[in-house]
Amino acid sequence: MSQGKWDARIRRASELVSIHPYAAEGLRFYARVATFQRNLYADLPQALGSSPQVSPTGLLPDQLQVSKLLPRFAELLALTQQIAPGPLAQASVALAQKGPPAWQQRIEDFCQSERTAPTAGGASREPARTGSEAMPAERLLAWIFLQPYAEYLADRRVSRNVDGTPSTCPLCGARPIVGVLRPEGDGAKKSLICMLCGHEWTFRRIYCPACGEHREPQMAFYSAPEIAHVRVDVCDTCHTYSKSIDLTKMGLAVPVVDELATIPLDLWARNHGYEKLQINLLGA
Ligand SMILES: [Zn+2]
Ligand SMILES: [Zn+2]
Repeated sequence: MSQGKWDARIRRASELVSIHPYAAEGLRFYARVATFQRNLYADLPQALGSSPQVSPTGLLPDQLQVSKLLPRFAELLALTQQIAPGPLAQASVALAQKGPPAWQQRIEDFCQSERTAPTAGGASREPARTGSEAMPAERLLAWIFLQPYAEYLADRRVSRNVDGTPSTCPLCGARPIVGVLRPEGDGAKKSLICMLCGHEWTFRRIYCPACGEHREPQMAFYSAPEIAHVRVDVCDTCHTYSKSIDLTKMGLAVPVVDELATIPLDLWARNHGYEKLQINLLGA
């Protein structure tokens, strides 16, 4: 996979600024962050040397060589000091003063906390924990920083078919950030996209990634006419929700970006008592 996916995200964020003015501020911030991520992704072959450690079986966070990348974390902190909303900018200032050992610790802490038990080899028995709580600013910075690295490693892995319905990423163990419906035959097939490495894996249409509920009456979805290609999938057993982007209705959508832009759906879901499976990079 090339840098093209980063360009597609940046372009989509710019398009959506005019379509969803209520999300403009967040989308502009995201576009700047994604530009940083694209550049970091492009520089990784050089930064990591010619043979990044990519094992065919290990989960990605085992393979991170964070120390080689710490100068780039300083760059991210400088950027977010300039462009991030208040609390994130303040956290960037404070973290910048603590220096590289603290940065490395924050990044490794993030990896540890996001890893969940591998779920390969059958339907997951352990439901995913939810990431609905507000994410502390330092963790958010570590997440932004690690995404290009995790995607870089994931892009160099041989994709493997996974049996069952893993509710967390088969490659790195992190939670899904958004669902996708892709055209298949006369209908659509569902997949999930990993919050960390961007890997997309096939998922059942009616199945709750948080608690494993699969009885149809308990699983529902809602959408709004003005953003019909984005729907809110809810589970009435564990009261968790996540969004799915329907590419059969809007082929131009870029799932991780359209997810960020559709704030009214988050408001609707929370007003109806649902918690998000995984909050996004904008904290929504
Ligand atoms: Zn992943
Ligand atoms: Zn559930």
